[in-house]
Amino acid sequence: MPLLPPNLGSFPARRRRSVSGHFIEQDVCRAVGGSSRTHFSPSCRYCRERCIPFLVLGRGSNCLFDDRGFDGFVMLNRVDQLEVTEPGVYRVGSGFHFNRLGVRCSAEGFSGLEFAGGIPGTVGGAVFMNAGADCQETGDVVDSVEIVTMDGELQVLRRSELAFGYRWSAFQDMKDLAAIVAVTFRLTPSTAATERQRAFLERRRRTQPIGERSAGSVFRNPSGAEISAGRLIELAGLKGFAVGGAKVSNVHANFFVNFNGSTSQDMLALISHVKESVDKKFQIELKEEVKYVPHRTQM
Ligand SMILES: Cc1cc2nc3c(=O)[nH]c(=O)nc-3n(C[C@H](O)[C@H](O)[C@H](O)COP(=O)(O)OP(=O)(O)OC[C@H]3O[C@@H](n4cnc5c(N)ncnc54)[C@H](O)[C@@H]3O)c2cc1C
Repeated sequence: MPLLPPNLGSFPARRRRSVSGHFIEQDVCRAVGGSSRTHFSPSCRYCRERCIPFLVLGRGSNCLFDDRGFDGFVMLNRVDQLEVTEPGVYRVGSGFHFNRLGVRCSAEGFSGLEFAGGIPGTVGGAVFMNAGADCQETGDVVDSVEIVTMDGELQVLRRSELAFGYRWSAFQDMKDLAAIVAVTFRLTPSTAATERQRAFLERRRRTQPIGERSAGSVFRNPSGAEISAGRLIELAGLKGFAVGGAKVSNVHANFFVNFNGSTSQDMLALISHVKESVDKKFQIELKEEVKYVPHRTQM
């Protein structure tokens, strides 16, 4: 489940209004290709012309919203078409559920997205974040990405233009990006894909607090260090440490769970405490993987 302040409920953007902003409902974006462009573009242009901040959200599974909500438009992405253009090549709307895609591709005998089977986001969110697990990453199997720019122009970007890195894609720095619309994945044939996916899911069930409310890993693993963020937090003695309703999971120390009506403020205070403790003990500065969405942003 996404980490959201309690005033927003479990996944509220499609049902509730923000305190002082507006939510565009989920029907803004529907189809892949030309028609999705025509759906995305007017909404982006509308916001841009009126200097209204906007946010394109997949499933919000990597986002921590401010307690006051987001003062602007939230576009919930529902571009969820899928076409197989040749064996192993999938062109998918950016709102398609990433876990569903992972399961389908593996079942059809293609390798590269087995890890996606356990990730509760959309294809757009996965590409934006370069989501990964079990030595696989989204960017490794991206062939091209279709985007809409702030000017409403449709662009097709090849993988070589996207500088994928650890939980990083060029989109995170792209001032001109309005929305990722569709992604083409190129996978390789494999008879072992389903079996591998089953093993990944089994490991997840054993090692992560599945079923509790979290945003997955809070911190990136530190670059250059031979140790994971979760292990550092555990060695700092912080498993089970809580601030208000937010707690470091007892199952996996890099997962912070909303166990009792956590506010965003609780979660931010917990993140800050963990960072300070790890820095003090190991002189390693942890960096957030989870995206904090502030109440107000500049257009
Ligand atoms: C239980 C659990 C397990 C997880 N496991 C993993 C894991 O193993 N590996 C991993 O990498 N992550 C993991 N995550 C984190 C998260 O699911 C991934 O980062 C996922 O890819 C985010 O997808 P989303 O659609 O929910 O993105 P959101 O949270 O909605 O958005 C994330 C960012 O991407 C931007 N964005 C989303 N869609 C678009 C779009 N169409 N166009 C432009 N920008 C867009 C948003 O504006 C935001 O900045 C986990 C989360 C949970 C809750």
